Amino acid sequence: CSKIEPYHIDFPSSAQTMEYILNLTKPGTNVASTSSAMPTKKRALETLYGSNNKLPERLDHLEPKLIQQIVSEIIDQDTIVKWDDIAGLEHAKNCVHETVLWPILNPKIFQGVCSVRKGVLLFGPPGTGKTMIGKALAGEMKATFFNISTVSLVSKWLGDGEKLVRTLFGRSSITEHESIRRLKTQFLVEMEGIDSGSEQIIVIGATNRPQDLDEAARRRLNKRLYIPLPTSEARSHIVLNTMGKNGGNILEKQDLDLICNLTDGYSGSDMKNLVQEAMMGPIREAIKEANNGKGICELKPEDLRPVSFKDFKNALKEVRPSVSKQELVAYVEWNAKFGSML
Ligand code: ADP
Repeated sequence: CSKIEPYHIDFPSSAQTMEYILNLTKPGTNVASTSSAMPTKKRALETLYGSNNKLPERLDHLEPKLIQQIVSEIIDQDTIVKWDDIAGLEHAKNCVHETVLWPILNPKIFQGVCSVRKGVLLFGPPGTGKTMIGKALAGEMKATFFNISTVSLVSKWLGDGEKLVRTLFGRSSITEHESIRRLKTQFLVEMEGIDSGSEQIIVIGATNRPQDLDEAARRRLNKRLYIPLPTSEARSHIVLNTMGKNGGNILEKQDLDLICNLTDGYSGSDMKNLVQEAMMGPIREAIKEANNGKGICELKPEDLRPVSFKDFKNALKEVRPSVSKQELVAYVEWNAKFGSML
């Protein structure tokens, strides 16, 4: 695999203000919301091409289509996540600060000690905050966050035809599924090259499938942090935060505790979905009533009754945990084998 070089993927950097964070986690998510935002795209193009609208020499050899694709998937710093938005994961947050942020903020005191920069891998079930950590980090560093999913890469390659994939992997019987996995690993291996430059580039990988990373990829991402499902406390944080952001009422403490007890095994993203589903309760009710009285268009937020525990009980029937116990065991085992414990 390491012999095949389909494209040399190279990212420019404008010294300390620019960071490239590669997220190899969920195929095809997170990028759509920004891909059509012109100002963001314009800024991204300027970042790549510079103010004189010329591609830096070292990017000259790259396919314009590929560059365009990278640009269209940029996530701007406007989408900042604050550290406080991330429930729990204190250990991971601290580690990321120590490994990535501090050396960037003050390279002088890290000279020698950290002359060999580490790559960081965030691994764990989907929807647990890996992307959020990347975004929070990018926000704090005023950096640009590129969220590059494997599907966006693979679809480009597959889009160019099965032939290209065959060439890419040197086989004819490869399945799409296999190719995605191999590509993920290959991409990380390509990242090795980044080390050679003098610029400050750190790779943060995020994956739901750490088992698919080979030895070379693990070596490159030598700080490997397990991002587990949220604890009961973190789930409570997510409920309150999500309700607060949506202008919802705060639940009674005992109701909140009950919800947390009933949601063992839910991911952060499951919790967010649960709250959103619960918040639909009063809306559905108000709309039903509105149909008998004043029209739906006249309804105001103050017409809605507060969200209750009953809404959550109903929502629990609708929103089920997305991660199985079996999958969790696999993460714990991989963590014991390859994870950074400190
Ligand atoms: P992934 O681990 O798959 O990268 P994300 O970071 O994209 O997951 O999380 C998806 C969504 O789920 C977030 O936008 C957020 O709403 C919610 N979420 C997941 N984990 C957390 C967490 N630890 N704290 C707060 N919200 C979370």
